[in-house]
Amino acid sequence: MKISRITVFHVDLPLEHPYWLAGGSLKFETLDATIVKLETDEGLIGWGEGTPWGHTYVPAHGPGIRAGLETMAPFILGLDPRNVLDVERAMDLALPGHLYAKSPVDMACWDIAGQAAGRPIADLMGGGSRTPAPIASSVGAKTVDETREVMERYRARGYVAHSVKIGGDVERDIARIRDVEKIRKPGERVLYDVNRAWTRQQALRVMTATQDLDVMFEQPGESLDDIAAIRALHPAPVSVDESLVTLQDACRIARDGLAEVFGIKLNRVGGLTKAARMRDVGLAHGIDFYVMATGGSVLADTEALHLAATIPDQNLLGVWACQDMLTVDIADGRGPRNTNGHLALTDTPGLGVAPNEDSLGQPVAIYTS
Ligand code: MG
Repeated sequence: MKISRITVFHVDLPLEHPYWLAGGSLKFETLDATIVKLETDEGLIGWGEGTPWGHTYVPAHGPGIRAGLETMAPFILGLDPRNVLDVERAMDLALPGHLYAKSPVDMACWDIAGQAAGRPIADLMGGGSRTPAPIASSVGAKTVDETREVMERYRARGYVAHSVKIGGDVERDIARIRDVEKIRKPGERVLYDVNRAWTRQQALRVMTATQDLDVMFEQPGESLDDIAAIRALHPAPVSVDESLVTLQDACRIARDGLAEVFGIKLNRVGGLTKAARMRDVGLAHGIDFYVMATGGSVLADTEALHLAATIPDQNLLGVWACQDMLTVDIADGRGPRNTNGHLALTDTPGLGVAPNEDSLGQPVAIYTS
């Protein structure tokens, strides 16, 4: 089986509500999605998606994915998509780095491999849990009142896990954390996500002022060096996501004890093939997980769910479903959907969901062998 055609679509995915990160310094209204259709000489079709969270969140952007695909296409065409390692190595040879540009191709290859085997991707990766995974909300807000309002909106949809975005102002962060802990319901899981927005002194001040609450922080500094410095001075559990990009990052975090949780975002780390290695490093070091798409449609959510399903239930803290934040649905309601705040894997072979091609518009590029 050979990859015979790569078709690239560009779709804008508007967010239902404006979204704020880093204490309100970054605003997001529309996500730039790249949808990739891989066709094979045997008629199987695989779908992939790469949707960074805007251009300002991490070093990844939509036009960069499409430029990267143009560069990598000649190296991918003709390969057997079921041999995901061959495709991975070809992409790494054609374009070092730029992991976010590779994830949609990796995803489409896994989709085809699953369909060819008649098994869901997670089962093909070694076995997928069918326990519904809790979806973490994404509470991008600025004030105490807004935080309550957004959390209520998610609770109304059944969410029991929340990622509350903080950072940027010490007093406000302390007030918001104390308020959320006050209204937190039994069984609710809350992660306070700084998204790199603290300096070291800000991190230590907020973490110390909320020490009595026993809460967990995500990405409390810009870099792994910052997190290492903070960790030496404060015992709060930490999740790392923006600084977890490569397998080398995962090894350093695990070996040096920089975090208790990996936040794996599949677009950022380059897709399922690379993320699976991070999973294994984490599991071998007693690290738990949040698994997410960086953003995007139900296709990206479903990719993340497959990896999440390969993690033992007790080590998986949550997934994320960006689908609930968008005003458009390129798959017409198909695929895993939020049910009482959880996503459940189905037995459909491959990825298990495909877009309605009519909703993607005209292709922006087609590469053929
Ligand atoms: Mg995060």
